[in-house]
Amino acid sequence: MKRITHWIDGKPFVGDARRHGKVYNPATGVQSAEVDFAADDEVNAAVAAAFSAFPEWRATSLARRSAAMFALRELLVAHAGEIADLIVAEHGKVKSDAAGEVARGLEVVEFACGIAQLLKGEFTEGASTGVNVHSLRQPLGVVAGITPFNFPAMVPLWMFPLAIASGNTFVLKPSEKDPSASLLLAELVAEAGVPNGVFNVVQGDKVAVDRILRHPDIKAVSFVGSTAIARYIYETAAHEGKRVQALGGAKNHMIVLPDADLADAAEAAVSAGFGSAGERCMAASVLVAVDGVGDELVERIRARVDRLTVGDGTNAASEMGPLVTREHRDKVASYLSIGQAAGATVAIDGREHDIAGDPNGFWLGPCLIDNVTEEMQVYTDEIFGPVLSMVRVDTVDDAIALVQRNGYGNGVAIFTSDGGAAQRFETEVEAGMVGINVAIPVPVAYYSFGGWNDSLFGDLHVYGPDGVKFYTRGKAVTSRWANIGQHHATLSFPANATHDRPAKGT
Ligand code: NAD
Repeated sequence: MKRITHWIDGKPFVGDARRHGKVYNPATGVQSAEVDFAADDEVNAAVAAAFSAFPEWRATSLARRSAAMFALRELLVAHAGEIADLIVAEHGKVKSDAAGEVARGLEVVEFACGIAQLLKGEFTEGASTGVNVHSLRQPLGVVAGITPFNFPAMVPLWMFPLAIASGNTFVLKPSEKDPSASLLLAELVAEAGVPNGVFNVVQGDKVAVDRILRHPDIKAVSFVGSTAIARYIYETAAHEGKRVQALGGAKNHMIVLPDADLADAAEAAVSAGFGSAGERCMAASVLVAVDGVGDELVERIRARVDRLTVGDGTNAASEMGPLVTREHRDKVASYLSIGQAAGATVAIDGREHDIAGDPNGFWLGPCLIDNVTEEMQVYTDEIFGPVLSMVRVDTVDDAIALVQRNGYGNGVAIFTSDGGAAQRFETEVEAGMVGINVAIPVPVAYYSFGGWNDSLFGDLHVYGPDGVKFYTRGKAVTSRWANIGQHHATLSFPANATHDRPAKGT
């Protein structure tokens, strides 16, 4: 049985783990590997490696740090297929989707290649007579990332390239469900010329996470996962005096107005609802049909789903793969009867979908639950599977009000041909990422990714300009070189700018 372990100080770290997790191939239901779970000692070893690598790494020139990012970019391109294969084997998503995940992660590395530009400070000459002021952004030290199962390469890549390019050293704790991609990333980071100890990986579960949250040498924690854990991470790490960004779950609404191109909206709903088997934090999970468009949307979605190939992610014909574990698959499927019992209608039943794969895989075809109302559990829970709920409302105002009352605020989309409605929507809607005729509005790497309300705890979003801010501290330097020796002690607060103000009438 393949054993998956940690990466500490530039090499694999095979400890004597007393606890392990099982890794499955979701398309066959067969266990493919055993992953070591770190205890406090392994986390301490990773943090110690990162801590001792920090002084030299932060003193390494920007030219060398950005050169390492360029090298990493080339290596990721060269190994993209291999990373995608690992994702397919452990997560289950189809190969083209896994390749897309790697491509979106790569964009962040490309952004990090410009770190010299991104870290530029500001300079003011002559703030007062002979006094100049400039600003610096400096790394924090050892920082950590804790990531979810649904993007085993992309979410770590949202974090560590910018963190290390900014001069920090990093400890990653990936999901225990699909841990292999993290180790290939670690090998590529090393091959890119990043010194030992700058990037480390510890595998594990809550034990490893709790040690990270309380380790005194870790200065900041980035987390992506479910809302309950995000809240816990935020509260615990903040209490320990760390900087935290904790991105949580979602319930993304896709609003369809009667003036939208319904063929286009239905296609978008299928991609955004069922891509990656709905295991995306930006998946559309609630379809809000305004003013009678519901029936046509259901029929168009049904027609597309009938032709949709659900099967093994290694097969190029597959459009949607299995769910990540048997337990998760069963929980997601249970929402069909929960919805029905509450009075909703199962319009498309994924349990009956033909599967092009091993019958022991964790399969569930695309599902659509119609006539869902706001108080139903299928509406309030984040299902995180290929289940679209349709809520029917009368007006665009009702649709916006529905989104506002929802506790999450990750992504939201509107499909319309009315520019005025779209403009009002983008202004008023309570969400961090808005799509206008775009169902999955994940921002490009030079913007930042993050939700509002229960979808993010903390102030700064991940990657992009916010990512640079999160992984650095600002410093303002006030300096005086001219007229040294002419200083006369005064105990009043320095207010040089006022002193320099020209006298009235001059
Ligand atoms: P999860 O919250 O179960 O796990 C995330 C990480 O936290 C993993 O590394 C896991 O080992 C760790 N963890 C789990 N339970 C813990 C506990 N009790 N204490 C400490 N650590 C714990 O999430 P998941 O199931 O891996 O991923 C799916 C969730 O992630 C969904 O809710 C999804 O919406 C969310 N997600 C959010 C975003 C975003 O950007 N907002 C992106 C991707 C995924």
